[in-house]
Amino acid sequence: MSQHGTDEEVKIKRHAGTPCIREPGLFSHDRPLVNLSVERERYAKRKCAGCDVAADCLRWALVNPSSSKAGIWAATTIRERQILRARLHNRLGRNWWMIVRGNHNK
Ligand code: SF4
Repeated sequence: MSQHGTDEEVKIKRHAGTPCIREPGLFSHDRPLVNLSVERERYAKRKCAGCDVAADCLRWALVNPSSSKAGIWAATTIRERQILRARLHNRLGRNWWMIVRGNHNK
């Protein structure tokens, strides 16, 4: 799958109020080899649950697997995102990402 959604990532990251901007170390977006503790993972997920760009974030993370291969994005772990992608592929076909992405990156 090719990369899509760079503009969306920028939009999300520029949203100054996001918990992952305020506490980047908690979400480990840039540290693929770091295993989060259960407590830290739960805490980050709770923060995402209250984030007002969570829907855009989840969409971006799902259609950009190589850019979201670490940490918590939209209250999901890398394993949970892999499962979601597999389910979307099974239900929507190989171009599922185009449906999920929609017009949000245009
Ligand atoms: S949903 Fe979570 S990872 Fe996504 S922008 Fe909000 S705080 Fe950051």
